Amino acid sequence: MTDHTPFEIDIVKAKSSKIDTVDFENLAFGNIFTDHMLVCDFKDGNWQNPVIKPYEPFLIDPSSKVFHYGQAIFEGMKAYKDEYDDVWLFRPDENFKRFNASATRMAMPEVPENVFINGLKKLLNIEKNWVKKGLGNSLYIRPFMIATGTGVVAAPSNNYRFMIILSPAKSYYSGEVKVVIAEHYSRAANGGIGATKAAGNYSAQFYPTKLANDQGFQQIIWTDDATHTKLEEAGTMNVFFRINDTLFTAPTSERILDGVTRKSIITLAEHLGIKVEVRSVLVSELIEAAKNGTLKEIFGAGTAAVINPIVGFSYKNEYHELPKLEQSMALQLKQKLTNIQYKNDEDIFNWTVKI
Ligand SMILES: *Cc1c(COP(=O)(O)O)cnc(C)c1O
Repeated sequence: MTDHTPFEIDIVKAKSSKIDTVDFENLAFGNIFTDHMLVCDFKDGNWQNPVIKPYEPFLIDPSSKVFHYGQAIFEGMKAYKDEYDDVWLFRPDENFKRFNASATRMAMPEVPENVFINGLKKLLNIEKNWVKKGLGNSLYIRPFMIATGTGVVAAPSNNYRFMIILSPAKSYYSGEVKVVIAEHYSRAANGGIGATKAAGNYSAQFYPTKLANDQGFQQIIWTDDATHTKLEEAGTMNVFFRINDTLFTAPTSERILDGVTRKSIITLAEHLGIKVEVRSVLVSELIEAAKNGTLKEIFGAGTAAVINPIVGFSYKNEYHELPKLEQSMALQLKQKLTNIQYKNDEDIFNWTVKI
């Protein structure tokens, strides 16, 4: 939806900044938020004017539908600063479109472009100091929408709140990631909401992931819910497999989220002359490739970590370790992608947008 209604954005500045209290060298992911946030309410069938105001808690009725029926969606994006102190977004239109696709699936109103994109740009302009220079530094952007309508009747809410909050981030290194292939639990099902960034998708993963953690694995590789034979996603990331010199990743579907990192990696890999096959990889193929030595790499792809290499996987209690490579495609693709994001390389695909 493109809406060019000229929304007025009211700005209420914070009395002082807390930026000097933040240790930017030691940031845990997503714990600290900047001085301001954007808030935009939907009521009586219309979006109201957005407001940028100091970051603070707000009051909400206990019967609000978000608490009872989980009508809640979000996005995850990043802003980067180049060496000239300019701030850039990476393919923000993709996140905007996906946010509204999530909204539609959850019977929530679409957010106008002027609120999402222009509101975000205004907010970032105010918070420019929070985007630090240097590879690995970024400002994580969390747009989200919740149902604020009251009453515990199980029906879509009439009222919603859209917000954007910002959190300074350091490059995300989660240590060695070992995964277990799902044999019972599922992340998504045909006809379900797995292709949306609906909050409930993530809470439903916590318990199976905790079971995996208890067994010494950091993440789960999700398989299709019907047969558990096709490899689909890794944790909350899309997943790539390198067998010999070909990269494989599953096609997007109702069960697989259409990740911006995933599609950028496919484009970049093809540009670099790497063969990419977009098709489901079977668990049996993976096991065979691990056994005959043709399985070279597995990595997750998503905005937070960009690319997260996986060191080994377990299936039916058998652990398969991946080779340690000097020249990994994961690293090569990560460097290419981050160089575009930080404006160190030419942006040949026109992916970056200046604030
Ligand atoms: C957000 C998300 C991804 C990654 O999407 P990006 O746009 O690359 O950040 C992948 N899988 C799931 C389930 C997600 O929620």
